[in-house]
Amino acid sequence: MHEPQKFARVVIPSPLRQPLIYAVPASLQAQIALGMRVLIPLQKRITTGIVIETLAENPLASAKEIFTALDDQPILDAGLLKLAHWTSQYYLASLGEVLATMLPPNSRRESKRTVVLKADHSSINDELGQKVLQEIVQRKGKIPVTTLTRQFPGENIDRVLGRLEAAGAIVIEDRLAKQRRKAGASAEPKETSIDAEPLRFQLTSEQEAALGAIGKRITQGGFETFLLHGVTGSGKTEVYLRAIAQARSLGRRSLIIVPEISLTPQLLDRVNARFPGKVGVLHSAMTAAERWSQWWRIIRGNVAVVIGARSAVFAPIPDLGLIIVDEEHDSSYKQEDGLRYNGRDLAVVRGKFLHCAVILGSATPALESYVNCRQGRYQLIELNQRVEERPMPAIEVIDLRQQFRKTDAATDARSRANAARTKTADRPLLSESFVRLLRQNLAAKHQTLIFLNRRGFANFLQCTLCGHVWRCSYCSVTLTLHLKLKILTCHHCDYRRPTTNLCPECKNESLTPVGAGTEQVETTLQQLIPEARIARMDRDTTGKRGSQEALIRRWERGELDILVGTQMITKGHDVSGVTLVGALLADLSLNLPDFRAAERTFQLLSQVAGRSGRGDDPGRVIIQTYAPDHYALEFLIAHDYKGFFAAESEFRRALNYPPYGRLVNLRLDGPKMAEVEQRAQALAAGLRELQHRTAIFREQIEVLGPAPAPIEKLRNRFRWQLLLKGKQSAPLLDFARHARALIPRSPSLRLHIDVDPYSML
Ligand code: ADP
Ligand code: ZN
Repeated sequence: MHEPQKFARVVIPSPLRQPLIYAVPASLQAQIALGMRVLIPLQKRITTGIVIETLAENPLASAKEIFTALDDQPILDAGLLKLAHWTSQYYLASLGEVLATMLPPNSRRESKRTVVLKADHSSINDELGQKVLQEIVQRKGKIPVTTLTRQFPGENIDRVLGRLEAAGAIVIEDRLAKQRRKAGASAEPKETSIDAEPLRFQLTSEQEAALGAIGKRITQGGFETFLLHGVTGSGKTEVYLRAIAQARSLGRRSLIIVPEISLTPQLLDRVNARFPGKVGVLHSAMTAAERWSQWWRIIRGNVAVVIGARSAVFAPIPDLGLIIVDEEHDSSYKQEDGLRYNGRDLAVVRGKFLHCAVILGSATPALESYVNCRQGRYQLIELNQRVEERPMPAIEVIDLRQQFRKTDAATDARSRANAARTKTADRPLLSESFVRLLRQNLAAKHQTLIFLNRRGFANFLQCTLCGHVWRCSYCSVTLTLHLKLKILTCHHCDYRRPTTNLCPECKNESLTPVGAGTEQVETTLQQLIPEARIARMDRDTTGKRGSQEALIRRWERGELDILVGTQMITKGHDVSGVTLVGALLADLSLNLPDFRAAERTFQLLSQVAGRSGRGDDPGRVIIQTYAPDHYALEFLIAHDYKGFFAAESEFRRALNYPPYGRLVNLRLDGPKMAEVEQRAQALAAGLRELQHRTAIFREQIEVLGPAPAPIEKLRNRFRWQLLLKGKQSAPLLDFARHARALIPRSPSLRLHIDVDPYSML
């Protein structure tokens, strides 16, 4: 017999909360289980917690009682709880923060406190108390406490309300909102019996071999990670689908994670066609209620396959036997705020805990993943040929420097100044030879994809007389011109203002757009080739729900001749009519202050090039660049991933950058520049002293900085950072863990710890 578990350690899914101990009432003792949601009293409120441990004894003197269990089964199974603990340790985040990220928002039920006015309030004579009362009166005598708190920022509303309540002027009611119905509990049949689409083709021998290796592991059971390195159009998705079918025949479920679901409706179609009625979907564009109902559908075992974006790595799938991460190199697997985790990396950790197979698929694997193959941690599987023996597209480079010289000679200064009124002042956007190919492709009734990784009409406005550049008032970046909307906008904080020619500095009508974006490409093309059906896909044209998908569908059906877009257009679509791809200003991403700049450029351009020639006609790719000799472009043209890997490795190894070293970025931000800088300096000094005292830190760790972040100011907060570099992960994390204690608590200053950072802008 077990001792009765009379106490439970409970975590409230919220960043600032530590685990708390509660008593389990006798009526709940048989029911309570790890990973279960419970309602608990917290201060004056009722809130939701997750049981992470049950205890026979209470180490503390007293404990409040759990009110009730919210579900008849745990919302997090043992595997996910283990993953939560690991995530908290590795990313140096509280368990509360991890659970807040893992669980859908609707999992949290909380009571709402409402202030209700009573008759007599004549005795209140303090000013704030009066103001608060007035506010309540204006709201017809009833107002939620949260609304009041928002209306009086900086005031201790709880204390004021306490006084008012004591004086008998108000009462505070505490009520739990009604629980929304959880879908999927009973209504849905276990499985719908729609026929699966028949298999249409024979696997290529490479696909066959890949499936053989993966299938062997699925059948045997146990943890193994495969890196499926397959060139674009080599049929990776088909390997995933058949591996899922194998897992399914053994009664195991599968998880597919993709960078962005709305960009890959085709993949979703293919999974749905193969496993009709058995697919669960999770992504950020869903409403909270939709996500919550999917979540329960999945927990109850009503689906065989779950497909989702980054956060689906936490999907509560029973009997999970296969995890697939598509486009595993994609930077959108890295969450850049709150809990800064990497979904790809957590997928591997989850597979390890569950003893199951993991497939990471990519045409351009992340260096980290490829090194893991070299070091024997992952099994490398290659698909070197496209399906149906289709050739890889021919990639050519157009040197924009020479193009520019040509235009320079041809145009005299005055006409260039005139042109600058309607176009940006800089270089030719579309080279003559690309435009010629574009017209030919159109005449042949084929589709053309044009990639430029910058949205808007122009990158910024600059005064041609005094040189003034229009910047965001809240961020240290320039404002982008959006000509159709007639606005200047900040792509970081979304600040907007009407556009103008008037220079705010010298008061002349002399502001000129500089640096082209996708809107300008679209406009230019419409003037140049009016007969073509042209559309643009970037965040400006796909704001509305479903608009992105609608655009991709039109593109798939061949209703568009030319699609212009940002990196949104580079991912995953398989459209057979595309035979020409152009990448304009292909070196934009090479110039970012980021050690992954070359890798990202290589990946991005390989992806976009890979959209070409996926049908019966061969594909062609034109890369316009100012840096034709850069090794990333040379290896791109040669379709030589291994060559790129070798060259890039040399530089990473020399500087101890990942994958040959580990990084933790510590970023401080706050409203006052001087305070942020001073704290950053103090943090650096504290860490260096710690390093000095400890041999392993001295040997293993480098502390770089502090320095202002490349984007020094963002949303009116100043930013400084410190980069920690280590040879191995464990000592580096041990070291970084000390950072929080070295920063004095301050209401305005925030420290963000980013383990394995991606963006250091
Ligand atoms: P990748 O993900 O590697 O870019 P896909 O899996 O999207 O490639 O495959 C490209 C196209 O080829 C798809 O339309 C797919 O249906 C088709 N395909 C996959 N495998 C085969 C095969 N063995 N024979 C013929 N067509 C195939
Ligand atoms: Zn801004």
